[in-house]
Amino acid sequence: MPNAPRIGTGYDIHRLVSDRPLILGGITIPYERGLLGHSDGDAVFHALTDALLGAACLGDIGEFFPDTDPKYENADSKMFLADAVSRIRAEGYTVGNVDLVIHAERPNMSDFKRPMAESIAAILEISPKCVNVKAKTNEGLGPVGTRDGIACTVVALLLQE
Ligand code: MG
Repeated sequence: MPNAPRIGTGYDIHRLVSDRPLILGGITIPYERGLLGHSDGDAVFHALTDALLGAACLGDIGEFFPDTDPKYENADSKMFLADAVSRIRAEGYTVGNVDLVIHAERPNMSDFKRPMAESIAAILEISPKCVNVKAKTNEGLGPVGTRDGIACTVVALLLQE
């Protein structure tokens, strides 16, 4: 089907450490620890970037922004996502909707889901009604459950312009 919608998935996890701000979906969230990463560690933007690239069959974030490149040290991950948006647009796609899950034992995300959806929608240039942010604890299981990390999974749908 030449004009069929295209679906992509993304996943990312980063380790929680002291002395870093917690930034998810471009929003700084008050917490005693933050995500370790070569960039700002924004697992939401990284997973979403991968979902968009995946839907357009354009590879993954590491191919365009290797974490060995000093240029991206402490980078604002918004640039990765904005770059992916430019790439999918160049291929003739727009974003239909995205649905994402933040996997975090702490902190509670309920106050931040809406600001995150608005932040993401602005970068994707779509309505916040097309961006759904969910948050789950891991019931104490695994690296998320022990509060060693925060993960994010994303599904994105692209439409042909
Ligand atoms: Mg990452």
